[in-house]
Amino acid sequence: MTYNINNKGYYGEFGGAYIPEMLYPNVEELRQNYLKVMAEPEFQEEFNALLKDYVGRPSPLYFAKRLSEKYHTKIYLKREDLNHTGAHKINNTIGQILMAKRLGKHRIIAETGAGQHGVATATVCALMGLECIVYMGEVDIARQAPNVARMKMLGATVVPALSGSRTLKDATNEAIRDWINNPVNTHYIIGSVVGPHPYPDMVARFQAIVSEEIKWQLKEKEGTAKPDYVVACVGGGSNAAGAFYHFLEDTEVKLIAVEAAGKGVHSGESAATSILGKEGIIHGSKTLLMQTPDGQITEPYSISAGLDYPGVGPMHAHLYKSGRAEFIAITDNDAMTAGLELCKKEGIIPAIESSHALAVFEHKTFKPEDIVVVSLSGRGDKDLETYIDHFGL
Ligand SMILES: *Cc1c(COP(=O)(O)O)cnc(C)c1O
Repeated sequence: MTYNINNKGYYGEFGGAYIPEMLYPNVEELRQNYLKVMAEPEFQEEFNALLKDYVGRPSPLYFAKRLSEKYHTKIYLKREDLNHTGAHKINNTIGQILMAKRLGKHRIIAETGAGQHGVATATVCALMGLECIVYMGEVDIARQAPNVARMKMLGATVVPALSGSRTLKDATNEAIRDWINNPVNTHYIIGSVVGPHPYPDMVARFQAIVSEEIKWQLKEKEGTAKPDYVVACVGGGSNAAGAFYHFLEDTEVKLIAVEAAGKGVHSGESAATSILGKEGIIHGSKTLLMQTPDGQITEPYSISAGLDYPGVGPMHAHLYKSGRAEFIAITDNDAMTAGLELCKKEGIIPAIESSHALAVFEHKTFKPEDIVVVSLSGRGDKDLETYIDHFGL
């Protein structure tokens, strides 16, 4: 069995490109070109130079000594929080903006929920001098004002999505509509390992730099390129895909995907997609998604805006179904506690998404000799108000 994508665009039974006919030319153009473009030496050179000098890679692999002492195991943090713009998302938007340029596109569209992907997209558009339109639900625009301000500062146009629940999935629908209407000059930058093939694979390849670095960094520090465990939170699944990528086929490396249980997996307010989800099609991809018995998408909930996506990327649906990765669900409360613990023990304020991954240590016992690498997907500056409200600080 392989855990990576096959040549038809599927991870096991998940993936594919279930798209309206009018979107076919856009997706097909990308599918026919993405591997060829990524393999070009000049593309690789430009991508790697920007990752180094603009994003600040390699991100450190930090041995968390005090946290390790508390949990009696060896804990390393992959510091994606130190990237420019504060999370892993920039790895993907850098890759896709270079792809767009190679394909001759000069107008960029994106969807965003919490605004993190919108900011990462607006950033690379400013960097390259390309027009940037970000679709965002009207409800999200109201509750994510600082990120809306950032996008505007960076020169992007933020267009409110006024339909449905006026949140992420509605913004995605608007972006797709725009792309159908502008097939020639526009590239759609999707923000996670979701969407129709080739997006999940393309985004995973751009994020794969994370596990590529983990391998040589761990070799330097521990004399082995293989951790015992890699742990990452999963919204759509891009930081996890990046952290897992080079270990997918090596089953000696155990993979742990952490989803947001919200107020509890069965509370009706949750985003534990793999556990609660059923097979279905969302945003062009066959995967696991939270839905009503008659197939309507259920509104997910998590205290963390980056994890409340009703689906999960097809790679992760396959990792779940095949048992290759262990999936655990962490509640709001447990994530917040783990986040505050990292502040006190290591002097690092994590994004609430990343705090879900950190909660693995209260959830599961590791051996003293185990090397556990946790993807610290982002920094917590954006979440200060939520932490302060939660703890009454
Ligand atoms: C967006 C985001 C996530 C969730 O997205 P994935 O595609 O699942 O990685 C996780 N952490 C941070 C910091 C984010 O901004």
